[in-house]
Amino acid sequence: MNYTSLAGELQSLVRGSIRINESMRKHTTWKIGGNADVFLDPSDKGDIRQAVEFARERAVPFTVIGNGSNLLIKDGGIRGLVIKIGRGMANLSVNGNRIRAGAGAMLPELAAVARKNGLGGFEFAAGIPGSLGGAVVMNAGAINGCAADVLVEVEVVNHNNKLVVLKKEELDFAYRTSSLQNQGLICVETLWQGYAKEQWQIERETKEYLAKRKIAQPQGYPNAGSVFKNPQGDHAGRLIEACGCKGLRIGDAEISTKHANWILNLGNATAKDVLDLIDKIKQVVQKRFGVLLHLEVRVLGED
Ligand SMILES: Cc1cc2nc3c(=O)[nH]c(=O)nc-3n(C[C@H](O)[C@H](O)[C@H](O)COP(=O)(O)OP(=O)(O)OC[C@H]3O[C@@H](n4cnc5c(N)ncnc54)[C@H](O)[C@@H]3O)c2cc1C
Repeated sequence: MNYTSLAGELQSLVRGSIRINESMRKHTTWKIGGNADVFLDPSDKGDIRQAVEFARERAVPFTVIGNGSNLLIKDGGIRGLVIKIGRGMANLSVNGNRIRAGAGAMLPELAAVARKNGLGGFEFAAGIPGSLGGAVVMNAGAINGCAADVLVEVEVVNHNNKLVVLKKEELDFAYRTSSLQNQGLICVETLWQGYAKEQWQIERETKEYLAKRKIAQPQGYPNAGSVFKNPQGDHAGRLIEACGCKGLRIGDAEISTKHANWILNLGNATAKDVLDLIDKIKQVVQKRFGVLLHLEVRVLGED
């Protein structure tokens, strides 16, 4: 497929910018990943619908990403079109105790707007570096709450390229998952609802929570947060640590010595380094504890 001419054609249909052979290292917090054939930074919902229609008509595969903070993109990159829902779709507006926001706005921005407006329930969002679209897909959360607690509804682009509103109840939220993970729907807008809470209280709790995160989490090297989901009633980090895996390294990928469920990119880690480390961890944890760990990070692209 000639991606240069395809990109040119698509550029004439959308307002957002198109790039070819875009390195996905720039778009993941792990700073890992091969190139995307064609990359779109959409300006609005219209761009997304145009791009999706264009791709479907030409049988070009397409992939949607947010801030890339939960993604391992393989070294061979991503074929077809990658749509990154980000700054072009990051508007937020408050109405009473509700906040409407584009899927490209970030969780810490949502938390900040809620804080300024005396809305509680969003404290968990302050420290998670994901877009709102990615947060809904992953049901992002921490000890003090998760996306499902405060979400009202989302607007998605469906398989017929129509904009459809889905209520929270339709999204099958559970621990770090939602039905949006496997349905091929694209989240473009979100509506959230908080409750009245004193601003000083939100500020104090947020500060304490961020300080705790800073102490518990590795700093300084690119990563994607927790690699594995916690198995029921336990912590993946505890199991991995108990197997003596802290500090284990393949290439430039290292299991953090601070938090065993985090894998750090010490400089030039490849997706293969990380995947080999993941396999190793799964093997030793299964052998020692009989527990099969499941990935929290999403793996995209080709070897
Ligand atoms: C330092 C650090 C700390 C973290 N801490 C936490 C934490 O405390 N709790 C937690 O839950 N997570 C945490 N994470 C993981 C991550 O931030 C969350 O999973 C976040 O919700 C992912 O959002 P994203 O925009 O980066 O999504 P991405 O990583 O870009 O994508 C995640 C998945 O969602 C899909 N997707 C993204 N946007 C859309 C959209 N608009 N429509 C349809 N599909 C979409 C992608 O295809 C992919 O399958 C952390 C990550 C890092 C790097």
